[in-house]
Amino acid sequence: MDYSNKKNVEDINVQGKKVLLRCDFNVPFDAEGNITDTKRIDESMKTINYLINKNAKIILCSHLGRPKGKPNPALSLKPVAEYLSKVLGKEVKMANDVIGESAQNLSENLNLGEVCLLENLRFHSEEEGNNKEFAKKLAKLADIYINDAFGTCHRAHASTVGVTEYLPSVCGFLIKKEISAMGNALTNPRRPFISILGGAKVSDKIGIITNLINKVDTLIIGGGMAYTFMNALGYSVGTSICESDKLDLAKDIMAKAKEKGIKFLIPVDNKVGKEYSPDTEAKIVDADKIPDGWMGLDIGTKTANMFSEAIKGAGTVVWNGPMGVSEWERFADGTMSIAKAIAESGAVSIIGGGDSAAAVQKLGFADKMTHISTGGGASLKFLEDAPLPGLVALDDK
Ligand code: ADP
Ligand code: MG
Repeated sequence: MDYSNKKNVEDINVQGKKVLLRCDFNVPFDAEGNITDTKRIDESMKTINYLINKNAKIILCSHLGRPKGKPNPALSLKPVAEYLSKVLGKEVKMANDVIGESAQNLSENLNLGEVCLLENLRFHSEEEGNNKEFAKKLAKLADIYINDAFGTCHRAHASTVGVTEYLPSVCGFLIKKEISAMGNALTNPRRPFISILGGAKVSDKIGIITNLINKVDTLIIGGGMAYTFMNALGYSVGTSICESDKLDLAKDIMAKAKEKGIKFLIPVDNKVGKEYSPDTEAKIVDADKIPDGWMGLDIGTKTANMFSEAIKGAGTVVWNGPMGVSEWERFADGTMSIAKAIAESGAVSIIGGGDSAAAVQKLGFADKMTHISTGGGASLKFLEDAPLPGLVALDDK
């Protein structure tokens, strides 16, 4: 899918217009109701500030958590309005509904450069049901629709797809960056193009492997899914996660890589643990020597070196999926080595996937990467080349 021709906020005149801006304010909270990580809100500021400077009238909307189609005070976006007011240095008025009287009044009476926030979109079941009437009412609040919530673009909801039927629809700066960073890497990569795939299961990543195998020069497989490949090669993998119904698929993938003449790397050693637990007894063993009753929870040192060596000369790296259970310190070394190798390679580096993004952040490499996608599931779909309904629905240039 090519989204490079989609209109963005700079392609339209927003001056004095009421703009419905779909953001991703789905932030985490602590038990007292305080926002514990404001990253998602902070990332939306570029588009919000642009619209303020252009004297638009800004109507923000987002989902938060899973209220299952019913109003739930615990999932109100009020704390987000408070945080936004603080950051912007002026009041962001909070509607106490989504399409009701409060939302209509607030949006109708906005002054130039003013901002208001609608209540949690998912207080209505019609949002996730992509209900036409609901989308129409949402659209009625504004003159223009801007989507900057990349993380929900893989879902056809009223606020991501339905609303585009009724308004000129463009993307904000966040989505523009996602489209250009990931789009360029996939369609016009600086070579050699290396993809590193890991994470838990092969079955989650079949689409990505199938797409990328046609584009890359080197394919590196680590993480939990490597054990299915190792098992397909005849190695015994102990109690490692291994999808026995995917062995033929793994063989097909390896045959295809060979046929295409691309370099295909899987672990030659692994750090194995006795149990699936953060402080289980652990040791590094060669790939053909995983003892019965032990499970692979990270790549080994030899593998980390081999992968790092391959990454050294890369022009473009697309990485999805940690090399092991990187949430646990004892099994984070492999993921750390790969992050370091990518950071040092000077390659254009794209990180997709929610857990991968979290790992890169936690290990301290976030500012060394070219692009860390803000959408977990959406970034996977993008890398699969599967259509993202929220992007497809935007106007073309
Ligand atoms: P992403 O969200 O970036 O797409 P995934 O969800 O596919 O990544 O994979 C992340 C998960 O994979 C993590 O929870 C991690 O603990 C798990 N994982 C990685 N390696 C292994 C392994 N060897 N055994 C079990 N789980 C693993
Ligand atoms: Mg995940």
